[in-house]
Amino acid sequence: MTKTDVIIIGGGATGCGIARDLALRGIPHYLIEKDDFAAGATGACHGLLHSGGRYAVNDPEAAKECIEENMILRKIGEKCVEITGGLFVRLPGDSKRFRDRFLKSCEEVGIPTEVLSASRALDLVPNLNPVLEEAVKVPDCSIDPFRLCMLNATTSRLKGATILTHHKVVDIIKEHGRCAGVKAADQFTGQIREIRARVIVNATGAWGDKMAQLGGSDAPMTLSKGSLVITNHRLTNMVVNRLRPPSDGDIIVPNEAVCLAGTTSITVTDPDAIEVDSREVDKVISEAQAMIPIFRSTRMIRAYTGVRPLLKGDNSDGRAISRGFKIIDHKNGMFSILGGKLTTYRLMAEKLTDALMDHFGLNVACETAQKPLDGQDELSGYPLSKRLNSLNGIVCECELVNREDVERIVNRIGTKYIRDIQHRTRLGMGPCQGGFCTYRALGIMQDMGRVSADESMRVLREFLQRRFRGIRPALWGDQLREEQLVESIYLGILGMGREQ
Ligand SMILES: Cc1cc2nc3c(=O)[nH]c(=O)nc-3n(C[C@H](O)[C@H](O)[C@H](O)COP(=O)(O)OP(=O)(O)OC[C@H]3O[C@@H](n4cnc5c(N)ncnc54)[C@H](O)[C@@H]3O)c2cc1C
Repeated sequence: MTKTDVIIIGGGATGCGIARDLALRGIPHYLIEKDDFAAGATGACHGLLHSGGRYAVNDPEAAKECIEENMILRKIGEKCVEITGGLFVRLPGDSKRFRDRFLKSCEEVGIPTEVLSASRALDLVPNLNPVLEEAVKVPDCSIDPFRLCMLNATTSRLKGATILTHHKVVDIIKEHGRCAGVKAADQFTGQIREIRARVIVNATGAWGDKMAQLGGSDAPMTLSKGSLVITNHRLTNMVVNRLRPPSDGDIIVPNEAVCLAGTTSITVTDPDAIEVDSREVDKVISEAQAMIPIFRSTRMIRAYTGVRPLLKGDNSDGRAISRGFKIIDHKNGMFSILGGKLTTYRLMAEKLTDALMDHFGLNVACETAQKPLDGQDELSGYPLSKRLNSLNGIVCECELVNREDVERIVNRIGTKYIRDIQHRTRLGMGPCQGGFCTYRALGIMQDMGRVSADESMRVLREFLQRRFRGIRPALWGDQLREEQLVESIYLGILGMGREQ
């Protein structure tokens, strides 16, 4: 049986952030994730590194945390943060009183703002609705959550920690009423590993209450589903928000070659049973169109959904619940961390690690705000055009990923999963959504002896089914025609529909 000091369960931003912090403070640990990094809310989020503007009026404490963390992350993570800037646009009918409260609240929590005339805003984002009254500029950014998790985990790995992705914690080992370790099942082989630790950290986001209950306690939360759509163009180079109280579909974030628009907020009970509803897609598109009119005629390439792990609130409206976070010491060897934002993941990790240091009676200061994230040298960084110089052996035309990129990842992490390559290279995340590059990448993995012919067909089939679930809510017009072409290629030319 393996022993360590800390087991972190959950490889989202929070879990990876804690792993980095523990590594920098010299604490041995395991990080266990049932899927790949960022498989939960982190990978399903909007990719907005908040300036805090969105929360300034109703949740000033969370807004202050956002602006402080925004300033830190743009310094330590320059290869996963694009400094786009953001606009809050006021359209005809949007309250001027709210605009005044917004400016005052931003000032109180330290968010720099600049009021722009409509024509100045249109200079910055020509696709904005020309009827806008004015806009307020804030320091919003776009952030790549997949890279963020992997870069945090890199430090942990470099300092000797063990990271087990595709391992699901299926049970908590208890001794004398205390949590003494975990049983983790390898999702590919089914093999169970037992690992013991002095402390277990539950960073499983929306699965937090389930995990706390496995440990004999609970972690009450409100789960709020949010859905988003992806356009096949970058319609704006700045984040665009609506200048009004937070509501559905009022944020558009540029992300590499595409834009992410959303989101909705619907209370759910089971994080494993969520789907995008076509009414959510309609709502998001009509709200986005109010800010950027060509949104309506732009091709949507996918819709996706995730669950916000919010603190338990009295209010059933997820938007009214604080974006603050909470650490629970269950006094049984398990700590849970709940709530928060992607933007504040580093601060959350710092506070949780401080609590563990107190628990261990140690006094080592946090360094995560000062040290740049490890592993950034290997990344191309923004923007996409910088990658145009490596066009040899191209595998994914949309995101300019070549054979060498795929081989490097496969050699480094020895994966059998196509999603692991996507998260590390953005293969399949552009306009064709993996329609034309997935089978090429699997062919490379087969050439390299990583997967057998049968395994690659199984992985491809699973991938295509998951892809279709994401694309289905956005299917009409050209997108529908293109999907039929992709289906004909897979079913007809590649024979995917035939029994093996
Ligand atoms: C639609 C939407 C949009 C959002 N947009 C933004 C945004 O733009 N900006 C922002 O700052 N925040 C945003 N958020 C909030 C943000 O995404 C979350 O607060 C944050 O990502 C939570 O990270 P986490 O690591 O705590 O949880 P998660 O990312 O959910 O990570 C938990 C991990 O635990 C793993 N896990 C669960 N059970 C087990 C088990 N038994 N064994 C092993 N692993 C397990 C899961 O697979 C998952 O990877 C958004 C959230 C949603 C849902």
